[in-house]
Amino acid sequence: MRLGGEGPSGNFEDRTGQGGGFGFGGGGGNMLGCLLPFVMSRFGFVGVIILLLGYCVLSQIGGGGGGLVPSGPTTSAPSGQSTLSPQMRDFLTRVLGSTEETWGEIFAKNGQRYTPTTMVAYTSGTQTACGFGQAAMGPFYCPNDKKIYIDPAFFNELSRRFGAPGDFAMAYVIAHEVGHHIQDLEGRLDEAHNSQARASEAEGNAMQVKIELQADCYAGVWAANARDAQGNILEPGDVEEGMRAAEAIGDDTLQKQSQGVVVPESFTHGTSAQRVQALQTGIKTGNPAACKF
Ligand SMILES: [Zn+2]
Repeated sequence: MRLGGEGPSGNFEDRTGQGGGFGFGGGGGNMLGCLLPFVMSRFGFVGVIILLLGYCVLSQIGGGGGGLVPSGPTTSAPSGQSTLSPQMRDFLTRVLGSTEETWGEIFAKNGQRYTPTTMVAYTSGTQTACGFGQAAMGPFYCPNDKKIYIDPAFFNELSRRFGAPGDFAMAYVIAHEVGHHIQDLEGRLDEAHNSQARASEAEGNAMQVKIELQADCYAGVWAANARDAQGNILEPGDVEEGMRAAEAIGDDTLQKQSQGVVVPESFTHGTSAQRVQALQTGIKTGNPAACKF
């Protein structure tokens, strides 16, 4: 993936090194049900993080800490010094900048103006307008403050634990969260939240799967339309990297790995095959209207 021609986004907050909460690996062997990109509720309380559709269920394997902590930040290594490498900062802000340019153009074609999201890079845990965010839950979007939260250590997990390395795999994760921001701007998140209030848990989960698959598709739409001076920024192998990541984070694959059994009613993000297909639809069509879920 080429990002050389992209201007870095200024909608970026660096909170790394400020400590708080538990990061990856705290307590060892903890697996989270909401391991991956998810949307938080507008109505989350401080310290109690509620998914847009259904609760964030933790399935802890082995003892120890980690997971959701119903209290404020702890003070692990509160050096206050940024721990973000210049390379990572550059990558995050350029991918974000590319999504701004791309979605700006798509919105403009429809006579609308795109209001960008802000990305917050943090370490372990941080306060959000949706409650206390924990890195162990993976990157997420908070509709209350319209920000994306990401602990860059997640990318190591993506590469090592999920076997999905590569810059495009990382960009897909960011673009998926930007996809939730697009849904927020479209009113889809509010709509889903309202319907979910009247739905059973299984119905609520099914609704969330659609939200997640659309965000995957929107990530593909970004990739299809992202350009620099030389044209589309995708290079050979990029699409495969994205597909590998989408496949690795399907509900069925994650459940098989963490609990050995697959419980379809509890799916919140879609199967590996569904996620791959959603991303593919976005990349192939480059058209957000094709992302109907
Ligand atoms: Zn998501």
